[in-house]
Amino acid sequence: MRLNITSIPGDGIGPEVVTEAKKVLQRVGEVYDHEPVFTDVLMGGCAIDAVGEPLPQETIDAAKAADAVLMGSIGGNTTTSPWYKLPPEKRPEAGLLGIRKALGLFANLRPAYLYPELASACPLRPDIVAGGFDMVIVRELTGGLYFGPRSTEERDGQQVATDTLVYSESEIRRVAIRAFDIARKRRKLVTSVDKANVLDSSRLWRKVVTQVAEEYPDVTLKHQLVDSCAMELVRDPAQFDVVLTENMFGDILSDEASMIAGSLGMLSSASLNETKFGLYEPSGGSAPDIAGQGIANPIATILSAAMMLRYSFDLDQEAEAVEQAVKQVLADGIRTGDILPASGAEGLRRVGTAEMGDAIAARIVGRES
Ligand code: NAD
Repeated sequence: MRLNITSIPGDGIGPEVVTEAKKVLQRVGEVYDHEPVFTDVLMGGCAIDAVGEPLPQETIDAAKAADAVLMGSIGGNTTTSPWYKLPPEKRPEAGLLGIRKALGLFANLRPAYLYPELASACPLRPDIVAGGFDMVIVRELTGGLYFGPRSTEERDGQQVATDTLVYSESEIRRVAIRAFDIARKRRKLVTSVDKANVLDSSRLWRKVVTQVAEEYPDVTLKHQLVDSCAMELVRDPAQFDVVLTENMFGDILSDEASMIAGSLGMLSSASLNETKFGLYEPSGGSAPDIAGQGIANPIATILSAAMMLRYSFDLDQEAEAVEQAVKQVLADGIRTGDILPASGAEGLRRVGTAEMGDAIAARIVGRES
């Protein structure tokens, strides 16, 4: 199968980690007989330097022409980089918002998985996470409070600020369908999170999600209030499989879930639209403090590439092979600096970005192995 991928290496550690994800995809291609084809384009600070704007039209066109986009990260040191002297709409991050909008990416997926080998990085008590956890937060990305009308006005001698939380049935339905499809590929449980005891938008959310669930009799649906979910995430994270929620609740809950999963260098993400198309990127930023040193952890980007195989190309077995290779590397004691325990590195081998990519690629095995 030909895998038509547009790649946006970006800034900082972006090019370093994207190189390793490509290496792993090439290896998947060799082992499983696929042909990944990469088109590299500019976005973020490097695009500002090259053509004077963070999101050139050529980048949008190349992304739209691909089956999927593999992205590193964009941006620089927000205090010292000249990019941050530009007006907000010209800064690197404007490219990020612009491309999500241009591609209609309404569903954001962030897996939170606890690797037993990295359990010491989890801030929860060992007895809470003894059995590990494995969840995906599916967050609505283009509606709700962050996109509704807002204003600040003077009323009766004081400032009054208003934000508006708007959701239509179709916006809720399309992201719910995504979540149920994903649950079908996992443990078949969707926890839909809302605040239906207070908010009208949440009552509509619950009604539409319940309707969608009728089309998926093999998937169990649970409703949970957002305050309760925030508590349950730290009390018993193993209970969750797919967590479906609206934009602001998802923003907060996905950060909470990232925190309990440990290092930023391990966290992948995907943003999807109605088609198979998706944009895949690590959850972390461009890490200017370590850029160019060859020490960044490429695993988040490599796991994002695994998500690409699963969601954009329906190559579940290949995605699984990448995830297994990452598990094997950790089991073999291979670590980048960010995932070395503070308590000491006895029995572990510290490696750089490229060596970690090589180690994962070498552990990709075929169907019959
Ligand atoms: P960051 O995520 O870049 O870094 C936070 C800390 O985590 C740093 O100490 C960094 O060294 C470490 N870290 C991050 N990824 C790592 C990896 N793969 N391996 C090892 N260590 C890693 O966050 P920040 O410093 O707040 O932001 C830096 C720049 O990144 C800013 O310009 C910000 O706007 C941008 N940013 C971009 C994205 C994106 O492209 N999607 C997301 C977040 C931040």
